[in-house]
Amino acid sequence: MTTHRDLIDALALAGRRAVASGLVIGSGGNFSARLPGDDVCLVTASGAWLDTLVPDDFSVVGLDGSHRGGHPSPSSEVALHLAAHRARPDVTAVIHLHPQHCVLLDALDHRIRLITTDHAYYVRRSARIPWLPSGTQELADAAAEPLRDGTNCVILGHHGCSAVADSVELAYKRAANLEEAAAATYRALQLGDTTTVCPPAYLAGIEQVERAGAGGH
Ligand SMILES: [Zn+2]
Repeated sequence: MTTHRDLIDALALAGRRAVASGLVIGSGGNFSARLPGDDVCLVTASGAWLDTLVPDDFSVVGLDGSHRGGHPSPSSEVALHLAAHRARPDVTAVIHLHPQHCVLLDALDHRIRLITTDHAYYVRRSARIPWLPSGTQELADAAAEPLRDGTNCVILGHHGCSAVADSVELAYKRAANLEEAAAATYRALQLGDTTTVCPPAYLAGIEQVERAGAGGH
């Protein structure tokens, strides 16, 4: 059975990977995770460096916003996490990062294209919202809205992205593939290409498999 300690280990691993991969610089970005069906989640503490996360770097916060233990100061983006968990009962992990290609392309009003099968499989589709002040309920609500139809990746204008999933590892893979798709789109644009995307037949195939209730990649 999964425990809070397992979630902390998974989040700490995701933090090391995010920083090592350049998806965020040091303490920018924040994570949360909860046990399936639970009404409390672990949220990284304010100012915590993502590549050195230890158990003391997590606050335990109720989905109603109440502090239930752990670090006294959860991330200033705690509302963003709580709104995502509340919007999607199936979601147990939220990864919020500041990936540079993703933020830059969106700010320049370029659509991030899913070009490889990995991009299509992990991201499927992404939504974008305009810039709103960090740490506000307004931002949290706006970022949670696109999640309601099953979208798992949301780009926050001039700021970063949030990726959600039913595991920390999958949420991380979604965020990493969104940034890779953005980097690939950036390079394609440099080469003068404005149209190339993953074959639509591949996307249709994975959606068909999903509807049939099977999984895997
Ligand atoms: Zn942020």
